[in-house]
Parts: sequence; structure tokens; C-alpha cells
Amino acid sequence: MEILASYNLQELRVKFQELGFEPYRANQVLGWVYRKFKDNFQEMTDIPKEQRTLLSQAFRVHTLKPVERIETKDSVKYIFRTEDGSIIETVLIFERDHLTLCLSSQVGCAVGCKFCATAKDGLFRNLTTAEIVDQYLWVQKDAPSRIRNVVFMGMGEPLANYEAVRKAVEIMVNPWGIGLSKRRVSISTSGLISQLKRMAQDPLLRELNLAVSVNAPYQYLRELLMPISKTNNLKELMQTLADHPYPPDRRIMLEYVLIKDINDSEAHARAFAQLIVPYRNKFKVNLIPYNPDPSIAFERPSMERVYAFQEVLRSHHISTFIRLSKGVDVFGACGQLRSKRLELVVK
Ligand code: SF4
Repeated sequence: MEILASYNLQELRVKFQELGFEPYRANQVLGWVYRKFKDNFQEMTDIPKEQRTLLSQAFRVHTLKPVERIETKDSVKYIFRTEDGSIIETVLIFERDHLTLCLSSQVGCAVGCKFCATAKDGLFRNLTTAEIVDQYLWVQKDAPSRIRNVVFMGMGEPLANYEAVRKAVEIMVNPWGIGLSKRRVSISTSGLISQLKRMAQDPLLRELNLAVSVNAPYQYLRELLMPISKTNNLKELMQTLADHPYPPDRRIMLEYVLIKDINDSEAHARAFAQLIVPYRNKFKVNLIPYNPDPSIAFERPSMERVYAFQEVLRSHHISTFIRLSKGVDVFGACGQLRSKRLELVVK
């Protein structure tokens, strides 16, 4: 049996034709699935009854199995099991006036950032488009209102799973699909230069919000924290980002996880500012005080140090924000998606 979210509209219209259906039935079915959140074909009342039965024999809506739901005051973490038994996590974050969904794009991650719990077991596999979209469908069914923002900031490096993520985005931003605004979908990457260049040429992905993990102002330090920097040089990364074809009113978010006594001094802040100043109008900065994880020796800096770091950047006229990760109390904040609790579930 096939999973609907494996296909974009065009592909599904062909599939439906092969089944002997009029192609426009694909538009109707996707309307039920992506905008009315129905997963039972029998409830799709504008489809003839015999076609509904055939559809339920040929297709299903979900591929993931919800395993656990952990709610706190500002987030809900969902744990799903894939058909091959892998465990993935998705976090719904309650912002002041909207909901943001943090999606996973891989089982594990090959990038190996030293501050990240997900990195510990390496990459198991890429998620399929259907598995990415199904995270959205399950959570939206459970959410108190429509999810407004989607961020690829969960498990995995989304640009290392380019094709599957691209098709999931296609389903999310098209009016025949979920219909989110492109400006409400963010790709958060560790900075894979070749994939960023590919994204810059891609009319679908280049308009999405882009957040890039920088985390260090020096090449040697970034290599220590993010071994991927050995092949994705910091200066070349900054130039690639500066060349990204954004309109003048858009800025790329540079993410900087502040780790006590590692990258959080005012000297680090000054060096980071020097990297940004030549392209000041292309970037804004998010400072993320490190979320402690019992399996990693790094510590969170004091808030005084965080504010001092911010002040240095601001004194160079760089827009700088501090993000205190929501979801940290369920170990769902970025870089912590392989939690102790998750290990218990897997066992
Ligand atoms: S921080 Fe992101 S890119 Fe780095 S290892 Fe963790 S999941 Fe992968």
C-alpha cells in the first residue's frame, strides 16, 4: 500500500489516472488530507463511494506510529516510530501568538557537532518525504490551532537529505498541499557549502528562511566544535551565505550556541563581529545559551556573559537576539533530540 505524502500533486494525478480515476480527484483527496486533516478515505464525502473504497485499498495517509507525547508548559514533544522501527522526535512549541513545529529530517545525524546529543550515534538513515510530512500531519491533528511556522531544526541535517526535504517543502508550501507561507518555513543547517549553493539556485528552497549554525569565530575552533568545518571552511561559508540571493529586506540567521569557557568570551564576540561586519546587512544573529545534556561535558554560560556577548555584536550594529530554547525541559531543544527518555523508549 502506498503512502499519499510520498507524492506531489503532479505525481499523484498520474497515479490516480493509473487507477482509473479522474486526475482532479487527487486535488480533492489532498484537500481532505492536508487542509481538513482527515486520514480516513470514507470521510471524504465528495469522492464517489466506490472510489473511496479503492483508495483505501491503494493508499494510506500515515506512515509513522505515535509512541509517546510529553507535554510541558511551552512545548509538546512527540515520539514516533517509523515502519522499520526507528525512533524520531518532533517538537511543537507554543510561541506567544502562534505555534511552531520543529521537524526531524534524518534518523540520527552524520555531522557530528560536539555539543549535540543527536550526533552521538551518527546517521542511521534519511527520512522519506512521507515521514517528514507525517510528523506535521500527526501533530497538527493534536495541536490546539493551526501550526504557523515550520522549522527543520530537529534531528538531522536537512540539506544532507536534500531531495526528500525539498519534496516535503513542496507539499507544505503549495496551495494544493498544506499551504504554509514560504516565509514561515525555515531550514536550519550546519553549513554544507555545496548544498547551500544548490539551494541558492533552487527556486523553491531559496526563498525559505535560512538559519546557519556558525558557533565559532575561528576556523580551528569551529573545526573542534563542528568537524564538518574541515571540509566546509568558515570564510568560504560566510562568502557563500553573503552571495545567497535574498531580497534586501531578508536576512540569514547566524546561529551561535554559547558554551561556557569555550566560545563565549568578549574576544570571541569581537572576532565573530569581524566576520559579519563586511556583510552586515545580510545577517542577523541568534545567540543560544547551550542546553546542558547529561551525556556531554559542556556547560551553559551565565546570562551576564550572554548579554556581554550580545552587547559586543550590537556595538558593531549587528542585529542580535538571544534565544532561550523552549522545549529544553522535554529535551527537545535543538541538538538534544536524542534524549535519555528516548533511549528508554527504544529499549
Ligand atoms: S546540531 Fe544538528 S547538524 Fe549538528 S550533529 Fe546535531 S543534529 Fe546534526
